[in-house]
Amino acid sequence: MEQQKYWSSFGELNQSDAYKKDVQDEFKEELPFEADDKGLLDAKTPRRDFLKYLGFSTAAAAVAASCEMPVKKAIPFANRPEGIVPGVANYYATTYVQDGDAVSVIAKVRDGRPIKLEGNDLSPLTKGGTSARVQAAVLDLYDGARLRFPTIDGKEVTLEAVDKAVADAMAGLNGAPVVLLTSTVVSPSSQEVINQFLAKYPGSRHVTYDAVSYTGMLLANEATYGKRAIPAYRFDKAKAIVSLAADFLGTWLSPVEFAKQYATGKKLDEKNPSMSKHIHFESAPSVTGSNADEKFLHRPSETAAVAAALLSAVNGQAINIADAKLKAGIEKAAKALNENKGAALVVAGSNDVNVQIIVNAINEAVGANGQTINWAAPVNYRKGVDADFAKLVDDLNAGSVGALVVYGANPAYSWYDADKFKAGLKKAKATISLNAKVDETTELCKYVIPDNHFLESWGDAEPQAGYYSFIQPTIYPLFKTRQWQDSLLKWSGATTDYLGFLKGYWSTKLGGESGWNKALQDGVISPAAETIGGASFNGAAVAGAVAAAGAKKAGKVEVVLYEKVGIGQGQGAANPWLQELPDPVTRATWDNYVIVSPAMAKTLLDIDLNNSGQADAYEVMPPKKVVKVTVGKTTVELPALIVPGTEPNTIAIAVGYGRSEKLGKAVVGTGKNVYPFASFNGTAVQFAAADVTIAVTDEKYPVALTQTHFRYDTAQGNRTEVMKELSLAQFKKHPTEIRDEREKELKPWGGLEKFESQGTIYPVYDRPGVKWGMNVDLNTCTGCGACVVACNAENNVPIVGKPEVMRGHEMHWLRIDKYYSGD
Ligand code: SF4
Repeated sequence: MEQQKYWSSFGELNQSDAYKKDVQDEFKEELPFEADDKGLLDAKTPRRDFLKYLGFSTAAAAVAASCEMPVKKAIPFANRPEGIVPGVANYYATTYVQDGDAVSVIAKVRDGRPIKLEGNDLSPLTKGGTSARVQAAVLDLYDGARLRFPTIDGKEVTLEAVDKAVADAMAGLNGAPVVLLTSTVVSPSSQEVINQFLAKYPGSRHVTYDAVSYTGMLLANEATYGKRAIPAYRFDKAKAIVSLAADFLGTWLSPVEFAKQYATGKKLDEKNPSMSKHIHFESAPSVTGSNADEKFLHRPSETAAVAAALLSAVNGQAINIADAKLKAGIEKAAKALNENKGAALVVAGSNDVNVQIIVNAINEAVGANGQTINWAAPVNYRKGVDADFAKLVDDLNAGSVGALVVYGANPAYSWYDADKFKAGLKKAKATISLNAKVDETTELCKYVIPDNHFLESWGDAEPQAGYYSFIQPTIYPLFKTRQWQDSLLKWSGATTDYLGFLKGYWSTKLGGESGWNKALQDGVISPAAETIGGASFNGAAVAGAVAAAGAKKAGKVEVVLYEKVGIGQGQGAANPWLQELPDPVTRATWDNYVIVSPAMAKTLLDIDLNNSGQADAYEVMPPKKVVKVTVGKTTVELPALIVPGTEPNTIAIAVGYGRSEKLGKAVVGTGKNVYPFASFNGTAVQFAAADVTIAVTDEKYPVALTQTHFRYDTAQGNRTEVMKELSLAQFKKHPTEIRDEREKELKPWGGLEKFESQGTIYPVYDRPGVKWGMNVDLNTCTGCGACVVACNAENNVPIVGKPEVMRGHEMHWLRIDKYYSGD
């Protein structure tokens, strides 16, 4: 059996003194509550109360759960609300929706309060899967920083007052157009509501804005397939997968769905042993790159050249790539794709139209169209086109927008030129926000009618054509909020509310009330059989895209912006569970930072991680050197984290941080906003730049990094391998090798049966009846971190805050460790 050496830190790799000491001492310091002599219960802020300290509370839920009757005393339900049995949970199918993401879930509701979300197994798309953000969404319901009532100029008003004021404002527009600005809407009934609203105001329009947009794909698909849409991808049907920096297991398009599909190709069957092959190209480490069979690095400016070279190689032409390793990787990827024609798939994370056109050409060449790429049922996740929004910003600045109604979108934070948007917004006659919190755009709006949380809402979603998922409330609205669709219906002059509208919309389609009830019960409606089909391909744009690929200029240092699985485009920033979730790639919490390679660390930071003393100082101590990064006119100072697997001339920084403190205490002091590093090329926003200057400052900034907390290789355990591993070829030759190895290891204690009594120091108890176990298939675990947050929710595990994480006191019961191999 092959056994690679895996290491979690350079101290471990080089067996530094600090590392050796670390594995000896399980408890490194006194617990803080003993240290100040007060004990846990008398401490000022016990760690279990940290959520309360951050403003999360279920007090409002107690009121809502008891049918709006304020609870004065702790008494049992004498007159219990119908359907609630104290302590017995109810389960409702509903849907997590946020900015175009839609995941079918089952909400567990106890004593009238939603407490946990699980994936809905009936969804053929997500198949019971969730993500860290879906798991954490239940906490957002209880967020004390949610807007609790409508406001005009920041002052509380009634719904009636704000409706009247909005009606008056709309009447005073004198024909100036109304623009409805939303993030991607996946709800078909809401689209009807939008149409009705737009029809009421002649000249009005709907602009879709996605903070991290997929404009490049939408326009490339229009150029090559004649459709401004995104097809459904089928990673489960792909034997060869090549990703050009698409983090499809972490953040790209629909990772929950893709992770399920990807797992299909990684599950081993003894009778028919085969696995999909995944080759990944990227500039900075990602969740998907960490799962790849092989990974190759390149600068962000080389993305188009890599795509063009892959197209040439797939077509059997010579390629001109200077870096020998990268060239070999491209040739290997082309070979794998060609060997699996009809079962091959290439995806790219770039928002550059030319890169996406080239990728479409590669997919056409390897027979993906109509096989692993399904045009018969395209998806609805991302519809925003950057040029549409750029035009809106120009129109706002020209004073030609009468009213701006915002739902979901937050460009005052995430648009690359937010100042221009903000300046334009001030020129609109009426500004209305339907967002749930005082985000950066909402705080600039005159009228605010906060939206319900999705667990308080009715609705539907159609993430993929023909696949529907329904939303039903699991609790009465906690605050004086209203669904955004209700606001639009009201202002359209409709006489029905959204629930009536929704029921009407679906009852006709589903054959009446009983069909509607069944849909709500299951949570999903899907086609009886899947249709897979292709689209006709027009290659006219490919030559131009390839020519443009060679024109990219490299910089001495380049930056790539990325999303973290927890914080996303910024939606997770106010959620303490997500802030404290160690990022699966860097294992850092509570901040963003500049990711640099070990090679750049040597020249820029003067830190050589193969020098034990320097590695110990860097890896053990939270303060990290702060670097100043400048792109164009924007400068940001952030701590630098050294992460192996980063391209030597590239730095990477996560978006989603540096949020307005009005979003809640969890965002205070967490990171900086780097959306201003993005740029607009006239067609699409680019999330990478080659004209970067970077300099080290005299400052240091503490980062709560968990990578070196808790050691596997303890002095007591003396374990040498993280996991058993063998190649597919070895498995085919000897499928029982790992089982045999285990039996060999257990033999000294009389085998598996007797191991507990002979091989451990624990007493043996009888355990009759059902026994629960948990096992994780390491072939299919992507390291997404959803289970860590799910454990927070299920077991009421508190967060402890950044200072305690820095002391190694994080309280996660589940830990996703990150190991490296190689040197
Ligand atoms: S076990 Fe792995 S794949 Fe599953 S939720 Fe946890 S990290 Fe994600």
